[in-house]
Amino acid sequence: MLTLGLLPGPNEVRLHKINHYLSPIVDELLEFWNGIEIPAAGRKIRLALICCSNDIPAARKLCGHISASVSCHRCYKRANSISNKLNFGGFDDMSEWFVRNLLKHRQDAENWRLCKSEEERKRHVSLTSVRWTELLRLPYFNPIRHLIIDPMHCLFLGIAHWIIKKLWIDGNKITKHDLELMEKRAKIIKIPADLGRIPNKITTGDGFSGFTADQWKSFILIYAIPLMWDLLDEPDRKILGNFVRACTLLVCRIIDDKTLSEAHEHLLKVAMLIEENYGPERITPNLHLCLHIADCCRDYGPLYSFWCYSFERMNGILGRSL
Ligand SMILES: [Zn+2]
Repeated sequence: MLTLGLLPGPNEVRLHKINHYLSPIVDELLEFWNGIEIPAAGRKIRLALICCSNDIPAARKLCGHISASVSCHRCYKRANSISNKLNFGGFDDMSEWFVRNLLKHRQDAENWRLCKSEEERKRHVSLTSVRWTELLRLPYFNPIRHLIIDPMHCLFLGIAHWIIKKLWIDGNKITKHDLELMEKRAKIIKIPADLGRIPNKITTGDGFSGFTADQWKSFILIYAIPLMWDLLDEPDRKILGNFVRACTLLVCRIIDDKTLSEAHEHLLKVAMLIEENYGPERITPNLHLCLHIADCCRDYGPLYSFWCYSFERMNGILGRSL
């Protein structure tokens, strides 16, 4: 892993201001795209940026898209508004979402630069969902297709957390007593030692407090069904069953097109079941974005090749060394 830069704190850099940090990196990427001679090897090499893997806020800043709570960056789905709260409910018009148009995106981003005031820029972004990013100076760069949906943030820190914490624990479907029972059950399950940290501190805080992305993954893939099945009613069992099946298919190290289609169908069922049983206002950006994961796999291969787990570990190492 090559660290090209660290953004200074204490707060995250805001929106397009990230361009000040991207600009020198893009200058170097342009040199590499044009070709660099390696005399010792007697070769000329070229290098291109073809995949951006981030959490949602970083993804939107890096590639110049509007907030994920307003609009998807890969298709034309925009959030609905119910009593001033945005959601991504409604699946009847899926055929109309289709992939975004790259040429129009580039034109809209160029037009953002021509805006003469902050107000004009804001109006432009709410109309087009696009702002300028320095990455667009790379002639080959596609800020729609090269910006993947990170499965670690989307599936495990996003949807797993949303279903179990927000829908079931906060909705009193899973009680404190149920959490204690689940923790007891988790402690008697023996799993191979190389599966990472065992998520057995289920009752901490309000439940599942401090769970890492790794623990959410282990919980969903191994523990969720045996620990929770008899505690859930029928619709919630269907939600859990479909979600666990989708994740189990997606984390395979070798994955084919048929498996991807099956995983996609299960994720779509999860979103539609949540809409049917909890209402469209409970459809979060992640429940929409996960419907693009199969296409990301078709571009980049199995999840292991592009998810953020290795970067997250690197963040941990960097954080400890500061
Ligand atoms: Zn979309």
